[in-house]
Parts: sequence; C-alpha cells; structure tokens
Amino acid sequence: MANVKEVINLISGGISKKEKELIEKAYKYAEDAHEGQKRLSGDPYFIHPFETAKILASLGMDTQTIVGGFLHDILEDTKITEKNVEEEFGSEVLFLVKGATNLGKLKYRGRERYVESLRKFFFAMAKDLRVVIIKFADRLHNLRTLQYQREDKRKRIAIESIEVYAPLANRLGMGKLKGQLEDAAFPYAYPKEYAQTEEIIKEKKDLYKKNLSEIQKQLEKELLKNKVKIIEVDHRMKRKYSLWKKLVKREMDLEKVYDIIALRIVLETVEDCYKVLGIIHSIWNPLPGRIKDYIALPKPNGYRSIHTTIFTGSGDAAEIQIRTKEMHAEAAHGIVAHFAYKEDKEKKVKNDKLKFKWLEELKEINYTPSEPQKFLEHLKTDFFNDRIFVFTPEGDVIDLPEDSSPIDFAYSIHSAIGDHISGAKINGKMSQIYSKLKNRDIVEIIKKKDAHPSGKWLEYVKTTIAKKHIKSYLEKNNLANKLKSFGKS
Ligand code: MN
Repeated sequence: MANVKEVINLISGGISKKEKELIEKAYKYAEDAHEGQKRLSGDPYFIHPFETAKILASLGMDTQTIVGGFLHDILEDTKITEKNVEEEFGSEVLFLVKGATNLGKLKYRGRERYVESLRKFFFAMAKDLRVVIIKFADRLHNLRTLQYQREDKRKRIAIESIEVYAPLANRLGMGKLKGQLEDAAFPYAYPKEYAQTEEIIKEKKDLYKKNLSEIQKQLEKELLKNKVKIIEVDHRMKRKYSLWKKLVKREMDLEKVYDIIALRIVLETVEDCYKVLGIIHSIWNPLPGRIKDYIALPKPNGYRSIHTTIFTGSGDAAEIQIRTKEMHAEAAHGIVAHFAYKEDKEKKVKNDKLKFKWLEELKEINYTPSEPQKFLEHLKTDFFNDRIFVFTPEGDVIDLPEDSSPIDFAYSIHSAIGDHISGAKINGKMSQIYSKLKNRDIVEIIKKKDAHPSGKWLEYVKTTIAKKHIKSYLEKNNLANKLKSFGKS
C-alpha cells in the first residue's frame, strides 16, 4: 500500500518540517477525496495521484508541485472545489492544480488540432512551467498503466505522448523524462516495431557490454596515469524508441548506429573534459566527423557534453560522452535542474533565463487562430527536429516527417490527390514528385487523371499513410490484372 514516506524519501537535498507536513496533508487529502474510486486496473484511484507525486519528487520538483501532483485530479473527479483547495493549500497550489486540470482537457486529434494544442501548452508553460511538468508526470504514470485502457484509447494516448509530450520534454532539456515517455508509449504506439527493436537489443546487448567494459578498463588505467580525477564512469544503453528511430534513419543497419551503448565519463572541470578527449584520441582513432563539442556549442535545449566515436580495434565503433557533474545533472533534468539544486538557485535562474530565451520569445507572439502559420514559423525547426511544416497554397499547415516528398504531402491531404499526383510546384517552381521537401515550402500538387502510383513511389515516401495507400493501390491492381488474364484463358 502507498505510504507518504516513499514520496518524501525521493526528495533530494532535504526539506523543512513545514514542507514535509504540507506533503503529508496533501497525501491524506487526496486519499480521502478519491476514497472509493477505482482505476481501470482495479487499484484504488489514489494510487495514480500518489505515483504522479512520486515521479515529481524524483524529478526534483519543489514542494508546491509535489502537492499539485497529489491534487491534480481532485477538481475534476471529486466533490472538492477550487475554493476548498485554495483554503487548504493556498492560491499557488490552486493555480497549479487548475492549470493541470485544464491542460488535461486537451486531446491530440492529429494535424488539425495540433497547432491549437501546442499553443495551449506553450501558454501554460510560459505562465508556470510546473503545470506542464505535473502533466508530464501524470502522463508517464498513465502510460505505465496503459494496458488497462481500451485499445483505441491506448493507441491515441501513446501516439500523443510520442508526438506532443516527448518533444516538449526534450525541448525543455529533460532528456530522461523524454526517454521514459517514449519508451512507455512505444509498445502501444508501434507494437510491431517495438518487438523488432527488442529482438535486436536482446541479440547484441551482451556483446556490446563486453566490448565497452574493456574500453572502460583501459581508459580508467590511462586516466589514473595522467592523474585525471574521475567522478563517475558508466555506460548507458540507447533507449528503445530512440534506437528504433535511428535504425530507420540508417536503413535498419545496426552497424551504422554507433551509439547503441555509450561510455559516459563524468569529470570535475571543463578543462578535464578536453584533456580526456585528447587522451582518448591518443589511444584510439576517432571516427571522422563524429567529434561533437556541445560544451562550446550547446544544443538549443541546453544540452552540453563532448561526444566522440572511436574505432575500438576489434572492428567496432563506440561512442564516448565526456561531461562535468553539472552537465550530467542538466542532461537528465534540463530546466528542472534549477528546482533540484536549491543552493545555487539564483545563479541557475540567471542561466536559465538565457537558455530558455525562446520561451520568453514565444510569449510575445500575438497569436490568433486564423494565423497558425505565423505561430509555427516561430517554432524553429530544431523544436521538432525530425518534423517539417509545409504549406498548401491556401496556407494550411501540413506536418510531415523530415525528407518527405510531394507524394507524402499529397496523400496527407487526400488519398484521391495522392493517387493521381503527376507533378508538384514547390514555391512556385515546377519540381519532381520525388523531391525532398523543406521546412516552410509551399507546395501545390498537379494531378492527372491517368497518373497512378508505381512501385518506385515507395522509395520516396516517409509517411505511413502514403505507404499504405500506394501498397493498397498496387495490390488491387495486381489482383485486377490477374483476374483479367484469368478471364481470358
Ligand atoms: Mn491524472
């Protein structure tokens, strides 16, 4: 059975007596309010807000947010009113609970609602990020108990998590949470691909681990000789969903994925990071083009680290990531790192102001629903780094995977348009239907009655919807041909 100590024990850095009492009070309050309600799993409903609060505590969130986690479903599902919450827990907690309740009413229904959902997310976020983080924790627990949901709902929730929640978590630099959301959703969103990935990992895991621990041993010896103080060395397995995405990019060729397992070295100072990079390259040859200095040039979400990929000598390649303790915490928790490290909160807030400037900028956009393009244009490509936004001549936004072609574009408008595409005007210029579309292209499809899908089209499409329609056209057509020849004989 749930125990409030489980939550309190997860809080790092200690809390005051008052804060502890507030958490205990929220625990009791939510347990009483949800009394008698059950989850689809048959568990008492209270388990859900309890687990949500636990996730928030493990993310390093502050007391108010953990309390918000306990109370996040209380307004919608119980008799408790806003006034009750305000009287018992104050206006700040009420704001968080109300915000999470409102965000919960949003449902991702694909493209047409996408812009609007994103907008609401951003505005909630810009007002108080903690509201969004409560929703992340709520969603993560729901994903972890998704097997009890109705099947159609399962898929919708899983896909929404991968397409909306995970990229947002990533944009906030919350790499660990992003990975957790994706991996919890993966089996329900794409069951076949999930099984395939599981299989690949199972086959190779032990081999990779063995190779890597040999590299680790050799490196530790060398660093000791050079008197470099190591704080931590470990290796991480690439998460399943991100491995699958990488495999797709590399034509399902495992040999071309270099970071399935990466060695991670955590050091004291930035100087040490560069020194260790030099030592590594003096032992092993680096793979050209794979040295990435995210310390000098951090990723847009704030991620900092040095990456290099080396030839191990046994014909393999392995990735090594070098970073300081501070960078290590930030890579996992992103923007939340400033809640976690209370001692230098002031310094952090200043840094975050710079790092999350894009968030401030977003607040200033004057958005009206008639101008979704304007809003999307402000979401830089790197936000959804593997999606592109392309426009119809009428200004509708079509959201496509990177490297999509006009064929994908045509099918995502309508199958009848896809089935008869014969050419495309991209930004007013006649182009091949096999061209690669870029972010913000304006695409006009040219149709011909006698144009039809061919097998070649399959090589140039990225979307499942286009693949599905082309295949079904080809199948039908083969069948028709066979029937014809059958009739003749
Ligand atoms: Mn909930």
